[in-house]
Amino acid sequence: MEDCIFCKIANKEIPAKLVYEGENVVGFRDINPQAPTHILVIPKKHYASLNELDDVSLMGELLNAVREITKKLEIQSYRTVINTGKDAGQEVFHIHIHILAGRDMKWPPG
Ligand code: AMP
Repeated sequence: MEDCIFCKIANKEIPAKLVYEGENVVGFRDINPQAPTHILVIPKKHYASLNELDDVSLMGELLNAVREITKKLEIQSYRTVINTGKDAGQEVFHIHIHILAGRDMKWPPG
């Protein structure tokens, strides 16, 4: 999608620190990390948020990418977050799974 920063990352039109690339999914380091390890996992195809993601197989690929990335980076304990909608803190409207690791996490999240 034009003007979507994560589509541009997926298409290699703008640089990112890629940690994973599959056929339909990429993982890259967050530009403004909120933990020592902060990775974003996205589908290459544009879906604005989880509300629009209707492809169950792709949902599985996204979670499998999380598993492969954390395994490769030898991360045993981590938090995954999907912010959906403005009130939940979503700022980039191309669905992404945050992987946060390397520090203690609080619950409930703010
Ligand atoms: P969210 O608030 O869930 O929409 O998260 C968006 C995330 O994207 C934030 O953590 C940003 O730091 C991150 N972000 C925005 N632009 C980039 C970029 N060009 N490369 C990597 N991460 C980015």
